Amino acid sequence: MEATTFVLFGATGDLARRKIYPALYNLFLDHKLHNSFAVIGLGRREVTDEAYQAMVERSLRDFSRREVKDTASVRSFLKAFRYNVLDVGHTEDYVKLLERVEQVETGMGSTPNRMFYLSVGPEFFEPIALNIEASGLGAAKGWKRLVIEKPFGHDLQSAQELNLTLSKAFTEEEIYRIDHYLGKPMVQELDVFQQTNPVLHALWNNRYIANVQITAAETVGVEERAGYYDHVGALRDMFQNHMLQLLMMLAIRLPKDSSADEVRFKKREVMEALEPLDEANIEASVIRGQYTAGAIKGIPVPGYRSEAGISAGSMNDTFIAARLQIDDPFWKGVPFYIRTGKRMKEKSTRIVIEFKEPLKQSSTVEEDDIPNLLVFEISPNEGITLQLKARDPRNKGKFKAVHIDFHTSSIEVPEAYENLIHDALNGDPSFFAHWNEVELSWKWVQPILNAFAGNSVPLYSYAAGSHGPAESDQLLAQDGHHWWLDA
Ligand code: NAD
Repeated sequence: MEATTFVLFGATGDLARRKIYPALYNLFLDHKLHNSFAVIGLGRREVTDEAYQAMVERSLRDFSRREVKDTASVRSFLKAFRYNVLDVGHTEDYVKLLERVEQVETGMGSTPNRMFYLSVGPEFFEPIALNIEASGLGAAKGWKRLVIEKPFGHDLQSAQELNLTLSKAFTEEEIYRIDHYLGKPMVQELDVFQQTNPVLHALWNNRYIANVQITAAETVGVEERAGYYDHVGALRDMFQNHMLQLLMMLAIRLPKDSSADEVRFKKREVMEALEPLDEANIEASVIRGQYTAGAIKGIPVPGYRSEAGISAGSMNDTFIAARLQIDDPFWKGVPFYIRTGKRMKEKSTRIVIEFKEPLKQSSTVEEDDIPNLLVFEISPNEGITLQLKARDPRNKGKFKAVHIDFHTSSIEVPEAYENLIHDALNGDPSFFAHWNEVELSWKWVQPILNAFAGNSVPLYSYAAGSHGPAESDQLLAQDGHHWWLDA
């Protein structure tokens, strides 16, 4: 870690309060911030430094994974925080910001660096980057970096345009695109786990793996984001970014101690090997769903089209399931099933790997089938379970599942944003989305976006509180597979 000014656009926003301040606080407690670390929070309203610090303190009390008890250490942490007024569209505000940044930097002993964190709506990404460049803020004595939140574009073309604009102010090496799923400890564990365990390393291929199932299920509906979500849908909001990133992290095969460049190169290879879908085969491989009225844990909830802010005849997708195939020597023939949805039965993000059962007679799923599974629980719980099929000694002729598992407590484990901010401050891009990955993801998803926009594929309904449309189960049944574990 080096002397750094952390310039935070959107300092009064939801993400800053819920994630960024608590993450910085926990890094501070773990002695992972440099002594010369300063935050300049930016917003449109006039706020004093003291009032800003009080807001940051409140956010720690409300959202930090570790309880805020020691007031002396909180006070010492808050000393790093200053506030500046800035309206994204006012170029003169950037000049004032530069003065403030330089003032802060004069107190830093070593070469000062600048990290610009864009925790604002995507419509502001381009003007901010261009103003950083035009105002001289980008001319840091040390390094400069840009941390940018999702969404990175709305489709392939807008993502390419956004990237082109950003590249006028920052090089690819300076851009850290956050996909917070990549910050989750269990996701960061995936490659290490595979590299350092010869048993898994040996099994990580199409000879032993029958299929991979990646699920991100939410129980919530659209909440306050209705207006935004109705133009976005599950495909853009979850699938193009988080789900495809999980697929890449699972499918890459890395030599031990791989560098960030190698990780990204291998991820790119996975995306390049992903068999493309076209108009003709989308319907057979992608299930589009939307929830109707139902109940979540016994509490009735309305259907999507009856939610406040959603248009009555909306064809928006709140659920996606898809079958993907990777055309490379390790994965050829192994279907990757991905599903994500709102208003599902249970909140859970997990990856399930089903191993082949060579002696199995039929390809149909029997009532008492017990598969051999490796399960990575990513959230809300973190853990790994190996489920093995074993003979039940008390019930001859029957089988039972034996579980080997470990789970961690969420209080002890760093939050995704702690990992990511720490990595960005240290210049480690391993767990950030490289432009190549983002572009290839949009390219893969674009024909599906087109099919949805043209309504050339059906929109299936599912009751809130269910596992999604029945067609999602049929997608796997066609291949003799089955979604394992409830979602
Ligand atoms: P928010 O609406 O709560 O906050 C936006 C911030 O931008 C506010 O501080 C607001 O004052 C500021 N702002 C708005 N207009 C401005 C202007 N003209 N000049 C200067 N500042 C202005 O949004 P959020 O939920 O904090 O999200 C921020 C970004 O992070 C978005 O891109 C969002 O997609 C992304 N994101 C948010 C979450 C989350 O959990 N909230 C999760 C993932 C990604």
